[in-house]
Amino acid sequence: AKDKGRDNAQFFMPEMANVVTKKFGFDKEINEALVSDHFALVFQPQVDRDGQDIQGLEALIRWHHPDKGLISPAEFIPIAEESSLIIKIDEWVIDSTLKQMSHWRAQGLEMIPVAVNLSGRHLVSDSLVPYVADKLASYQIPGSMLEIEITEGVLLQDIQRCVEVLTELKGLNIKISIDDFGTGYSSLSYLKRLPLDTLKIDQSFVEECDTHTEDAKICETIIHLARNLELMIVAEGVETASQADTLASLGCEIFQGYYFYKPMPADAIQSLLNQRLVL
Ligand code: C2E
Ligand code: CA
Ligand code: CA
Ligand code: CA
Repeated sequence: AKDKGRDNAQFFMPEMANVVTKKFGFDKEINEALVSDHFALVFQPQVDRDGQDIQGLEALIRWHHPDKGLISPAEFIPIAEESSLIIKIDEWVIDSTLKQMSHWRAQGLEMIPVAVNLSGRHLVSDSLVPYVADKLASYQIPGSMLEIEITEGVLLQDIQRCVEVLTELKGLNIKISIDDFGTGYSSLSYLKRLPLDTLKIDQSFVEECDTHTEDAKICETIIHLARNLELMIVAEGVETASQADTLASLGCEIFQGYYFYKPMPADAIQSLLNQRLVL
C-alpha cells in the first residue's frame, strides 16, 4: 500500500512531492543541527591598511554536518531563507555572538564591535527588535557593539517597514551596514531614508580594482558616495596587497579579506586580541 501511495503522489504532482520531501528533510536537518550544536561561528577581523588595528569582526556561520562534513552558508542559508527556519538560524547567530562577546569580556579583552548577517524575512518580522533588545540586556552588551548587515535586496521588499525596524534598532544604538553594496540594483534614494552607518563594497568590485579601471572607478565612486553621506566604508574580499593599496589610495580605511585574516574560530580570535593587548 505504501508503494501505491508513493506512485500516486508521483503521478499527480511529481515535482511538488519532491520539493515537499526535500523541504521536510531540510527542516529536520536544520532543527537537528540547532539542538545538537552542529552550527558554529567563525569571526573575520576588519582592519586598517597595515593590518595592525582591529576595528571590528564579522560573525559567519558554519555547519559541521555529522555525515556531510562542513556545509557552506552559501549552500544552506538561501534554502533556509525560503521559510521561517532562517529566523531560528538568525536568532541562534545573534545569541551565540553576544554570548561569545560576553565570554571575551570575561577573559579581560577589550570589547570590539561584531557584525552579524540578517536575512530580510527576519528584519521585517515583529520579533527581531524585542529579541535583540532582550539578548543585549541579558548578556549586558551595549547596542553600539553590535552591527547588523543587510543586503540591498532586502530593502526592495518593503522599504517603509525597513525604515521602521532600522530606526528601532538605531534606538538601541545598533550599527547598520549595507552588505554587498553595488550589486543590488536598488535605487540610491533609500540611502538617505535609512539610518545607516556603513557601506561594504562588494568583493566583486574589489577583485579587479587594481587591474581594471572600470572596477577602480566603481570603488572610487562608492567611497565618495559614502564619504558625502558620512558613512563608513569597508572593502570586503581583499586578497592582495595590490588591492589593498589601490583601495587605500581611493580613500578606503577599513579592510576585510584573506590578505589580512581569514574567518577564524573564537579561540583563535581570543589569542589574536590577547597578542594585541601585550604589544
Ligand atoms: P557575506 O556576508 O558577503 O560574507 C563574506 C563572505 O566572503 C564569507 O563567506 C567570507 O568567508 C568570504 N570572504 C572573506 N574574505 C574573503 C576573501 O578575501 N576572498 C574571498 N573569495 N572570500 C572571502 P561565507 O562565510 O562562506 O559566507 C557566505 C555568505 O553566506 C555570506 O556572504 C552571507 O551572505 C551568508 N552568511 C554567512 N553567515 C551567515 C549568518 O550567520 N547568517 C546569515 N543570514 N547569512 C550568513
Ligand atoms: Ca556580510
Ligand atoms: Ca558581503
Ligand atoms: Ca556576498
